Amino acid sequence: MQPRSKQLTDGCSLLVQDTLLSYPNSVVMSDEQPTLRQQIMQRITGTLCSARELSVELKIPQMQVDGHLPHILRSVSRDQSRRFVMEPSGCHECGYEFLSRTRLTKPSRCPQCRGKKISAPRYGIECHELTRKL
Ligand SMILES: [Zn+2]
Repeated sequence: MQPRSKQLTDGCSLLVQDTLLSYPNSVVMSDEQPTLRQQIMQRITGTLCSARELSVELKIPQMQVDGHLPHILRSVSRDQSRRFVMEPSGCHECGYEFLSRTRLTKPSRCPQCRGKKISAPRYGIECHELTRKL
């Protein structure tokens, strides 16, 4: 089944900074261990993961993953070569899809049938080739 992805924006697209574009992260972070946030970003690049999967793999509480996600969304949305995508949650009981939900965390209840069997949203980062004008 093809995941349906939804592009999220948080209004930060105007904040593209020249410094970020001219110094790739690898240069800036050369002497440091990748931070947890970077590990999450690496893990979801080119794929989709739920917060639970990330918490198990990175051995951190799921709440901590949820806490990092808005920051990841923000930094990815500043980067023209990448796009943050989210596969929306769905209700297992009636099939309702949370397509218009803008929050990143899993909803607790279905607005249609009030069921609580909700699938967790999955997150990913799509990479695009940066076509720069030289
Ligand atoms: Zn439902």
